[in-house]
Amino acid sequence: MEDLSCQELVELVTDYLEGALPAEERARFDAHLAECPGCDHYLEQMRATIRLTAATADIESRPEVSGLLEAFRDWKVRRGQDRS
Ligand SMILES: [Zn+2]
Repeated sequence: MEDLSCQELVELVTDYLEGALPAEERARFDAHLAECPGCDHYLEQMRATIRLTAATADIESRPEVSGLLEAFRDWKVRRGQDRS
């Protein structure tokens, strides 16, 4: 079984986090993580980013917040128009 390269790991990270990797690929992924601190750290960052994105999506789906976000977007658009 060939070792996974860092490049391959980066390409597979989304599938890994979604649990979409076949068992064999996942095993290679885990083996690489165990001996590559750089990729281990990278994975942690990806996890944190995904948590943050999920939290933000959750907030945006709340009506009172999405109303505010829309108002903010309108405000930005209007400022853009004023300048032209
Ligand atoms: Zn690596």
